[in-house]
Amino acid sequence: MRLHSIKLSGFKSFADPTHFQLPGQLVGVVGPNGCGKSNIMDAVRWVLGESKASELRGESMQDVIFNGSGNRKPAGRASVELVFDNTDARAGGQWNQFSEIAVKRVLTRDGTSSYFINNQPVRRRDVQDVFLGTGLGPRAYAIIGQGTISRIIESRPEELRLFLEEAAGVSKYKERRRETENR
Ligand code: ATP
Ligand code: MG
Repeated sequence: MRLHSIKLSGFKSFADPTHFQLPGQLVGVVGPNGCGKSNIMDAVRWVLGESKASELRGESMQDVIFNGSGNRKPAGRASVELVFDNTDARAGGQWNQFSEIAVKRVLTRDGTSSYFINNQPVRRRDVQDVFLGTGLGPRAYAIIGQGTISRIIESRPEELRLFLEEAAGVSKYKERRRETENR
């Protein structure tokens, strides 16, 4: 699976609809301090289901919604869509039949969070199912943030095992077994 496009609107500093294309295998994002580079990665982890505001450098989840600037009113909602090329058919679950998978999350100021896959309303766990075992997830190893390397090196054996299970592709089976046992 390859992420080839990110569409943001009302998310953090991206007040206006903004569309990033990621055409190649290697894309660099450059700009002055505070221009929004890290906000793009926050957006990716947010769509993938991050539910802890502090992981997105905020105090509450509503902090991801554009909160206004000198001459701009705050936005009423934040929306981010990630479009993946799935021609290698690595996605999990029923969505694997599609060569393109668009995952979207929307949050309104009243706290309503909704997820969509290819414009159909889905649950957060449906989004997680698509990516389990691919290494991509809000806290999986496909996204290496500042401090992640040292976090891995210093992690306890049980935490390290979670990374290895994701890389080996067994995490999705463990998740399914956990669900079955909880039924
Ligand atoms: P650096 O080079 O210092 O790492 P950066 O390009 O990664 O900078 P970010 O951390 O992505 O910058 O962006 C920070 C900016 O985003 C700040 O100016 C902050 O005010 C703005 N910002 C964060 N959340 C919101 C929000 N909800 N509404 C409006 N602006 C926001
Ligand atoms: Mg940054």
